[in-house]
Amino acid sequence: MIKDDFLEKEFSIYIDTCSLLSDYSEAFWNYILPYLRKYGQTVIVIPAVLNELIKHSENAENKELARKSQQVLCLLQSLEKESLACMGNWYDHTYADQDFITLFRSKSKKESVLLITQDKELAANVLALKEPNLSVRRILVDGSLSEIKLKEKASFWFMLCNKIVNFLFLSAEDRLSKQGVCKLCKKRMDTRYMKKGICATCLKKGTIHRCKRCGKKMLYTHYLRYVEKAKPFIYCDSCYLFRKQIYETRVCESCGNRFEITQGEVEFYKSKNWVLPKRCKNCRKQRK
Ligand SMILES: [Zn+2]
Ligand SMILES: [Zn+2]
Ligand SMILES: [Zn+2]
Repeated sequence: MIKDDFLEKEFSIYIDTCSLLSDYSEAFWNYILPYLRKYGQTVIVIPAVLNELIKHSENAENKELARKSQQVLCLLQSLEKESLACMGNWYDHTYADQDFITLFRSKSKKESVLLITQDKELAANVLALKEPNLSVRRILVDGSLSEIKLKEKASFWFMLCNKIVNFLFLSAEDRLSKQGVCKLCKKRMDTRYMKKGICATCLKKGTIHRCKRCGKKMLYTHYLRYVEKAKPFIYCDSCYLFRKQIYETRVCESCGNRFEITQGEVEFYKSKNWVLPKRCKNCRKQRK
């Protein structure tokens, strides 16, 4: 174990999903919370990690994982209220869904960054950036943090380098295949949360239209427009239903068949100052 003076320094502290879900996470929070409070520090949870937690929390096959993820999300929410954890709007424009590698590549040039992860591969990738301001630690059984360093034995150096380069290359490709740019807000994000190239947030947004009959505001969502490819509604739900109601049933003057006149038709004929039709639709068509 090493001395934990690092917590007294100005560090941006990041944590990944596997550390949050680790068996030692409770011990970890007990260990780190006094430091966070004392030095006004915050543990940052990046959107990619938050997305993973949310996904795990809805996992129907692994109930234990779902329960644990829900607990972690609850804990993070309460820590966020105390400004001890941060998973909110801070990333909105600059860091949306960047992963650790991309994030640290730009961040660690300007500030000291600490990543807490149990994931050896992620640790190796981050350390391979060789940024002096960047340190990686893992949670130990007692909740304290131990430094992870790349072992670079001379004889294995070339092999190790090769391995890292390969891994970086593969994982970069992997990342590219899962990352997309929302065509509306231009943010980069996981394509699993996108439909037709549009992110979930943008799909819920849209343009306001007014019901032609009552003037009520209706949201023509981007989901309706781009996914369902529906035209904007002319009438609101209640007006639509009203217009479908039958006003009266008449007997056609030409063919003797019964035909129905809807409330919608009554409104239409009134608006044109026309009298209600005396013939059914078929006969009206034929007379034209
Ligand atoms: Zn978007
Ligand atoms: Zn209406
Ligand atoms: Zn008729």
